[in-house]
Amino acid sequence: MTADRRETGDFSAGLSMPWKIFRSRTAIEGRPRPEHIRLYPTNRCNAACSFCAIRKWTRGEEIPTPELMELVRHFHRLGTRAITVSGGGEPTLHPGFDALLDLAGELDIQLGLITNGLLWSDAPKKLPANGRLVWARMSVVDSESGNYDVGRLRRFSRNLSETAVGCYATITSRSSVDTIRALADLAEELPNVTHFKLGEDTVSGAGEKMSELADLLKPGHGKVIVHRHEGAVRGAKRCLVSLVRPVAAADGYVYPCCSMELEDLGQVRPDRFRMTRWRDFGADTGCFDGSICPKCIWDRYNRVLAALCAPMEHERFF
Ligand code: SF4
Repeated sequence: MTADRRETGDFSAGLSMPWKIFRSRTAIEGRPRPEHIRLYPTNRCNAACSFCAIRKWTRGEEIPTPELMELVRHFHRLGTRAITVSGGGEPTLHPGFDALLDLAGELDIQLGLITNGLLWSDAPKKLPANGRLVWARMSVVDSESGNYDVGRLRRFSRNLSETAVGCYATITSRSSVDTIRALADLAEELPNVTHFKLGEDTVSGAGEKMSELADLLKPGHGKVIVHRHEGAVRGAKRCLVSLVRPVAAADGYVYPCCSMELEDLGQVRPDRFRMTRWRDFGADTGCFDGSICPKCIWDRYNRVLAALCAPMEHERFF
């Protein structure tokens, strides 16, 4: 029997019921662990997108390679088995990226990558990451003119031919419909491209353009996922998400989730999101108080985790 991949959230965990949690033994036994972390190795970036949600962050911050190795070993001891390497800035700029691949292989940690693809789509030789990343998602960068080199997706997917590739386009009011449609067509054609996700610009919003594109791409584009932040609610006081999928950022702190970029739009300062220094994050770390979060998209995760972690009357009578 096969499941609808969009329904199960294979490529978009925050949009669906948190089915993957039910496959985690520690979660279903009510013992939350940081099984999947997001890692922001550097805040440096080689692009300057207008919609960048973290453009006010300190750009020079970077975890030195030896410390990055220590950090990964630390979280592995706590139960981490999957890492999404993301930003922050552009993670492929980090000088220790290949060492990170080696260490993940040694520790049997699965790696996924979110990148702008600028370095790797134009790479002249075989990428060491090819086949060693479980997945890599290329974000479309923007430009003053609104033009984008659509062929970048082809080159990126070719250079990572043994990796599942995704593509993400932030839709702004000036996004070119022709460019997005060309990328959607290309995604359908390329065998190792699993999905093409459209996300609304969180800085200025582009709801109408999103709707227009969703209608336009519905026929014939089975790989398109329209990612809207609908249904966001105030955060949970006991944010258990902060214990199962925290963020280790380039400033050396652990943050409770990857939505803090969205929360930082003039409402909540990121330092209020700090949980601990990464070295102090441990099995006894308490969960984050998410009641300061005005817009949480992980509420379903928190409700499921709360139900799994709390004692339940008449538990066997399901
Ligand atoms: S938005 Fe707040 S409550 Fe929601 S997951 Fe993130 S930190 Fe937790």
